[in-house]
Amino acid sequence: METNEKVQCLIIGSGPAGYTAAIYASRAGLKPVLYQGIQPGGQLTITTEVENYPGYADGVQGPDMMVDFEKQAARMGADIRFGVATKVDFSGDVHKVQIDDDKWIEADAVILSTGASAKWLGLESEERLNGYGVSACAVCDGFFFKEKEVAIVGAGDTAAEEALYLSKICSKVHMIVRRDEMRASKVMQNRVLKTPNIKIYWNCETEEILGDKKVEAVKIKNNKTNEIQEIPVSAFFVAIGHKPNSDIFKPFLEMDDAGYVKTKPGSTLTNIAGVFAAGDLQDKVYRQAVTAAGTGCMAALDAERYLGAKES
Ligand code: NDP
Repeated sequence: METNEKVQCLIIGSGPAGYTAAIYASRAGLKPVLYQGIQPGGQLTITTEVENYPGYADGVQGPDMMVDFEKQAARMGADIRFGVATKVDFSGDVHKVQIDDDKWIEADAVILSTGASAKWLGLESEERLNGYGVSACAVCDGFFFKEKEVAIVGAGDTAAEEALYLSKICSKVHMIVRRDEMRASKVMQNRVLKTPNIKIYWNCETEEILGDKKVEAVKIKNNKTNEIQEIPVSAFFVAIGHKPNSDIFKPFLEMDDAGYVKTKPGSTLTNIAGVFAAGDLQDKVYRQAVTAAGTGCMAALDAERYLGAKES
């Protein structure tokens, strides 16, 4: 394996976690190199308005916010590059990351912030109306549908949590569950079942999301009776799980069953010294831009401490 470059601090991923790590690592003099990955800016580039990120008093468009993050990291001196990490080798003291199936980079410290991707149903209408009432984040977008009727698909803890969140904002939440039971924990299920403005459609699958320019209704089919039903709604939330972008790290890093990288509680330390994980790659519970940014900051501070100890 031929190494083409050696850096002190390498950051993989360009969501709030990666850029925040780059800001802190640059200011600490670690001369970070950041590779942006397949979707520069991450999941926020597919959302519309962000109103819950502190500091943007008037709200901000997700893509614009990520441009701001990138500019700030660049201004601090981060070397931001377009490229995708395709392979890693964390077996030695110095870590190696391959970019674009080609060049290998050696780094003393690596910060992983490759995020997670929401799972989608895979319907044409879901893709077409994404950002026009279709969303994979109730906490991000629920507020735009205040006092409106909305639908949510999914039956895990995320769907239950998001349905409860929406029930406080929206007039009615239509929850579409594909089996006759929920996967969510009993306590969450009970909360959902006890909430008067959440209506559950058991054994139902989404056939189509209806609407030309924005979501107007959802067409569902009962998979026991084959009955088809159209429910008028202003938004359609997809909460069928996320997939952390961790496949290439599997041979080296400890992960949970779903593939989220395990970190030492209260830190961003992974099981490999000098490899740190931040953002949604290691967080299946909070998954917010601000929490991702927080752990990005932690990762840079952890890396700085690690490199300092290595030198002395
Ligand atoms: P899960 O994988 O637990 O649940 C996904 C849900 O989506 C399941 O009910 C599944 O149905 C349903 N689903 C999947 N594909 C489809 C489809 N094509 N059509 C319709 N429904 C579909 O994901 P979550 O994001 O809910 O949770 C992930 C992990 O994070 C879990 O371990 C969860 O406990 C945890 N979590 C914990 C929280 C907390 O502690 N506060 C909050 C949020 C998550 P089916 O059941 O039929 O397979």
